Amino acid sequence: MTRSDLPKVLVSACLLGQPVRYDGRASGHPDLLQQWQAEGRVVPLCPEVAGGLPTPRPPAEIPGGQGAQVLDGGAQVLTVNGEDVTPQFLAGAQQALALVRRHGIRVAVLKAGSPSCGNRLTYDGTFSGVKVPGEGVTTALLRREGVQVFSEGELEQAQQALARLPAWP
Ligand code: SF4
Repeated sequence: MTRSDLPKVLVSACLLGQPVRYDGRASGHPDLLQQWQAEGRVVPLCPEVAGGLPTPRPPAEIPGGQGAQVLDGGAQVLTVNGEDVTPQFLAGAQQALALVRRHGIRVAVLKAGSPSCGNRLTYDGTFSGVKVPGEGVTTALLRREGVQVFSEGELEQAQQALARLPAWP
């Protein structure tokens, strides 16, 4: 049964079992996200695919910057082959923003560590597996919109944030 008055939550598609990661795989499908789907409150999105990138695709990182700098034109998103995929990352972030506005979303659960979806850490741009504090491009844009962005490791906090929200039409 679904309840249309429950606040919606934007969720990374790869956390819903969809094989949209750069390596053509999914990133699991936690029970709580399955429950939210059954309740009709999940709005899924893979920003990189929505922005026009294929699956599988070369891994990408943000050398010398973070999502906010990419939004402001001060950093690029580059693949391991050196291709500039900044336009696709920006387009995907805009799609996320459009969904948030359309559905009145105030909470998102996005995949940790991603140059699009990461909310606390991203890779440092050297493609050597080193993580640094920061956030991905989509996360940065959603936070500017006032959306609370959690990772799959913070589902309890996301649930608490959702519970604090008023019912939405
Ligand atoms: S982390 Fe984000 S951009 Fe990457 S596959 Fe998952 S949903 Fe797509």
